[in-house]
Amino acid sequence: MATQKEWICPKCGKGKILKGANAYACNYFKSLDDKCDFRIYETYFGKEITDELVEQLISGQETEVFQDLKKKDGSTFSASLFYEDGFIKPKFRNKTLEISCPICQGQIEETPFAYVCENALEKENTSCSLYISKVIAKHRLSSKELEELLTQSHTSSFISDFEDGEGENFSARLLLEEGKIIFNSLVCKCPKCGDGDLRVTKKSYSCSNWKNKSCDFSIWREISFREITPEEIKVLCEDKITPVLKGFKAKDGKKYDGKLSLNDDFKIVIV
Ligand SMILES: [Zn+2]
Ligand SMILES: [Zn+2]
Ligand SMILES: [Zn+2]
Repeated sequence: MATQKEWICPKCGKGKILKGANAYACNYFKSLDDKCDFRIYETYFGKEITDELVEQLISGQETEVFQDLKKKDGSTFSASLFYEDGFIKPKFRNKTLEISCPICQGQIEETPFAYVCENALEKENTSCSLYISKVIAKHRLSSKELEELLTQSHTSSFISDFEDGEGENFSARLLLEEGKIIFNSLVCKCPKCGDGDLRVTKKSYSCSNWKNKSCDFSIWREISFREITPEEIKVLCEDKITPVLKGFKAKDGKKYDGKLSLNDDFKIVIV
């Protein structure tokens, strides 16, 4: 049997810390008035305490940062543990993401409101600008969207529940440029003029050459009571026809399916 290390109690300095059934406890006891009640419990916030951790804690070291410690209400947080004034206490830390910063390769920390590069958190001499709010124009970023932003600099799908300052809904993909989020409404190149950008606006998909009146290509976002997604429009513009789309509605309320097709005049027909 391995002999236990001598652990002198950090609180009283007199007793030894012994491993018991439910805790590591100081054995100093002279009388009811002269005893030590210091103990280190089996678990802290769901984290199991090992001999190795006890060693660190009573020698005054701070443990590594544990991700996903659990509060009573089930929520999780990150913290290291340390000994102070007779107690084991948590030192709260921001959670860190597994993906590193695409700009500087630093660690990305999760604060209550944002994902921020550790090198962008310092008050002085910030060397990085990565800052991604958790909620962008009323839309809460999903973990998939966050991962896409960090690994490929843009979300792969359009997000349709953004809300602007006036409470109006809008759709866009998100781009990450130099650590900042920008909205991108570009769907694809305009199929009619070939050089304009087809952008999603509140009511339609319109060619950017609308402004200089050199192209009038535009498609309503809702056709026969069905919202057409940017992804579907992209296929339509590139292939001139979509696969069968479900859920169109005729004026009499009857539902039907069909393919959207662009005719020779660049008008939409359902076939
Ligand atoms: Zn003690
Ligand atoms: Zn960085
Ligand atoms: Zn055009």
